[in-house]
Amino acid sequence: MPSRSISAPKLLPGSGDPVYLATDAIGDAWSWLVLREAVFEGVTRFNAFQLRLGIARETLAGRLDHLVNGGLLEHDGLDYQLTRSGKDMFGCLATAMHWGDCWCGGEGPTESWMRHRGCGRKFKPVFRCSACQEPLSARDVVVDAVARTSAELIGEQRHRVPGLDLLERVRPCSIARTLRVCGDRWSSLVIRECFLGTRRFDDFTRRLGIAPNILAQRLNRLVDLGMLARRPYQLRPLRCEYRLTKMGLDYYPVPLAMLTWAQHWLGDAKSGIVLRHRLCGRRFTAILTCEHCTAAVNRDDIIVQAKV
Ligand SMILES: [Zn+2]
Ligand SMILES: [Zn+2]
Repeated sequence: MPSRSISAPKLLPGSGDPVYLATDAIGDAWSWLVLREAVFEGVTRFNAFQLRLGIARETLAGRLDHLVNGGLLEHDGLDYQLTRSGKDMFGCLATAMHWGDCWCGGEGPTESWMRHRGCGRKFKPVFRCSACQEPLSARDVVVDAVARTSAELIGEQRHRVPGLDLLERVRPCSIARTLRVCGDRWSSLVIRECFLGTRRFDDFTRRLGIAPNILAQRLNRLVDLGMLARRPYQLRPLRCEYRLTKMGLDYYPVPLAMLTWAQHWLGDAKSGIVLRHRLCGRRFTAILTCEHCTAAVNRDDIIVQAKV
């Protein structure tokens, strides 16, 4: 398996940043796919997870343990059952699936789609402002308070990182495609910094505590993938800043879903960040809704269907 070992971000104790906390609770890209199987397909058994994901038993066991320890799954005899917080990961998975459909769909058809029970139409997840009910976009959200910089490389901590090209090994999936773009931890944290307004190399290194060589590699990759674009802000010497493209801005619902999940389920995340809606001027919680009928939705309101 072409796995690489790289330095991974590590939470500082007491950090209240919800996106970091959610990233930490979920784990890596394989953990996302374990959750996909549990939330969308109702998989509970070890062997069924293994068959559907095509990963080594040891790898799967580690991811299941991580999700049990994080309170997203409960291990009950032979079964791994979703807890309420695990089931509520639906918003993160649905937004990741939708983004993958929109931006990575050129890689061929995927095998499932979602339908809203309430209106019967194809489900497209849209986050709305709890105060004014209008749809939320990255440009409409003001961040009033951010937890202090919370990622830091501690010692020579090493984590195995899944080969992101292996995620679709068993079957095509939009969530896996999203994870191939944004699914390693540093990339997701770099993107999250972009949404908080960070644009310059030195600001990324300072805010993330990331080594310059790792940051340069991630920024180059995100530019190559079309998430970020370089814009010169100084000519002599030439210096560029990094801006989210349309593709990058469209990704906003995924970190927003993670933030919303963390603030609801992780006590430490409640005070880390305060979001205000530019349109109505009020603080809000993001409510996951159906694009067509605007009803609030959770996992029980959605039917996941195989494409025929
Ligand atoms: Zn509002
Ligand atoms: Zn609907």
